[in-house]
Amino acid sequence: MSATVDNAAGPAEDQVHYLGSMQTIEFPMNRYGENEEIDYIVVGVGAAGGVLLQRLSRAGFKVIGIEAGPFWDTERDWVSDEAGSHQLYWEDMRVTGGKNPLALGANNCGKGVGGGSVHWAAFTPRFHPSDFEVFTRDGVGADWPISYWDLKPYYELLELEMPVAGPAWYPWGDPHGYPFGPHPMGGVGNTLIRGCTNLGIPVSAGGPVAILSGSRGDRPHCIYRGFCIQGCKVGAKASTLITHVPDALANGAEIRDRCMVSRIHHDKKTNRVTGVSYIDSEGCERFQKAKAVIVSGYSIETPRLLLNSACAGYENGLANSSDTVGRYLMAQAGNVILGRFKEPVRMYKAPPAHALTEEFYETDPKRDFARGFAIQTVGPLPIAFAKQMMAARGSWGWGMRRIMMDYNHWSAFGLLGEILPWPENRVTLADEKDQFGLRVAHVNFDLHDNDKKLIEFGKNKVEQVMRAAGAEEVVQEARYAHLVGAARMGKDPATSVVDCFGRTHDIPNLFVCDGSILPTQGSANPGLTIQALAARTADYLISQGATVFNSDRRDMTAPPVRPELSPPGTHGVGVPRLA
Ligand SMILES: Cc1cc2nc3c(=O)[nH]c(=O)nc-3n(C[C@H](O)[C@H](O)[C@H](O)COP(=O)(O)OP(=O)(O)OC[C@H]3O[C@@H](n4cnc5c(N)ncnc54)[C@H](O)[C@@H]3O)c2cc1C
Ligand code: SF4
Repeated sequence: MSATVDNAAGPAEDQVHYLGSMQTIEFPMNRYGENEEIDYIVVGVGAAGGVLLQRLSRAGFKVIGIEAGPFWDTERDWVSDEAGSHQLYWEDMRVTGGKNPLALGANNCGKGVGGGSVHWAAFTPRFHPSDFEVFTRDGVGADWPISYWDLKPYYELLELEMPVAGPAWYPWGDPHGYPFGPHPMGGVGNTLIRGCTNLGIPVSAGGPVAILSGSRGDRPHCIYRGFCIQGCKVGAKASTLITHVPDALANGAEIRDRCMVSRIHHDKKTNRVTGVSYIDSEGCERFQKAKAVIVSGYSIETPRLLLNSACAGYENGLANSSDTVGRYLMAQAGNVILGRFKEPVRMYKAPPAHALTEEFYETDPKRDFARGFAIQTVGPLPIAFAKQMMAARGSWGWGMRRIMMDYNHWSAFGLLGEILPWPENRVTLADEKDQFGLRVAHVNFDLHDNDKKLIEFGKNKVEQVMRAAGAEEVVQEARYAHLVGAARMGKDPATSVVDCFGRTHDIPNLFVCDGSILPTQGSANPGLTIQALAARTADYLISQGATVFNSDRRDMTAPPVRPELSPPGTHGVGVPRLA
């Protein structure tokens, strides 16, 4: 295919831009003039941003995605090598603190077109109906302004668009089946299944995971060599870079990569945002006018940008009249439990994400804490394994060499535990500045009583499963996974930043759409929910048309679900679902 992206940092015009081993981009990119007023700017082309660009451009809006990282050419930029993949992560300076500080960098945030969906493991369980009403059911956390049933049609769409492979019947939450068959088991999955089965715990084998179990169009099926977190050069694992961005470009969207948005501009007289300033790949500051702005920069960069955009009328940060921007940041407990087996396990020989149980997900009155956790396969490659063993056993020097020679005998499960939203777990601005002269994020994080009890119970349960699988030695590393929250949605403008469609309560043409709007997080990986919310926000914006740009009226009518806006060839395929 003769395909190029007209991209300063990309290949020459006559070169092909690869998005996988076979997938290429077929369209030279549309370019909008700097003084042209476009409809929407999407800040950050990640998990949510990619879906928004695709939907809005397909509906005919003029839309630009401004992305801090590169527009990956997977053949040119990616390596199937653990040490060579650090460029995929947001590793710019951030300051972390609190009693139980979060590690920031490679374990949470992406940078580049596709964002975190490029390096995610691609576990794609849905949230449970209970996640949307945690406060009502358990008296902790918060209720969402929407229910599971509002999001369900979007879960179903995204499961086809990625697509998700999984069992014909998934018994937890709102039980349902998957339209594409599950994956065969790798060594870690086999140990999880053995451990769970020996204890009588139901377990799901082979998904749900957004990895192709059979080839599809110009994307080949998974070859089971385990480099998912390094980006999947093969193109079997879904990311918005390969699932949504090509259709966005085909429909006239523009992506400005290596461009860091530094400020959202606001006109005090009209109480409307007017566009954004950004620093381009040459280091020049530029302004782009727009009728509306959607911030999709992830749970740390989104509040940081809003706080850095403080202005007359919003001295504490844009859209922050509630003092909620940056608050209620959440991470999931992500302890890794490692077990040594007599027989080889070979953790690397499968996607890390391929089996899980949600049997402990819901609040159980017999336990002394609210909410719950999932247990999932992890499958670290050798460098991650070495770090875990250093933390878990203090391995070093010759001890580390011996452990590394034993790598093939180890298996690893992850606890995925729900930590509740707390107001003081928050992003603020540090005094330190980054390479662009912008104040960096300071992240404060403390665990509370409920969180600590949940983690203690959860990690003991995972250990039991590992032992029941036959492990002769079990160790664990305490860590966190998946940051969400910090610009939460809610009905009450006094306690939330955006409404149920992502529109900021304060400014009618400023939206937030990414993981930061989640009020609670359950113990499901958040990526599918983030993308489903983005598709719903897009449907809303399409229904509202020009009123978003020129009216202060807030129509809270739910939009019709628009399957016709899915990327071509994704809707109406796969086996019929059981529910
Ligand atoms: C190792 C790892 C494994 C994971 N595995 C899973 C999994 O199995 N399942 C799952 O559901 N989730 C997983 N996740 C989490 C998932 O990747 C994130 O939840 C998801 O990508 C967040 O989506 P988002 O749209 O909020 O932000 P992102 O996808 O991170 O996108 C934000 C984008 O905005 C850009 N940006 C930010 N600020 C600016 C700015 N000022 N100007 C311009 N651009 C900007 C960033 O460069 C980035 O590309 C994993 C994460 C990690 C780190
Ligand atoms: S295991 Fe499959 S999904 Fe993961 S990197 Fe390899 S081919 Fe891609």
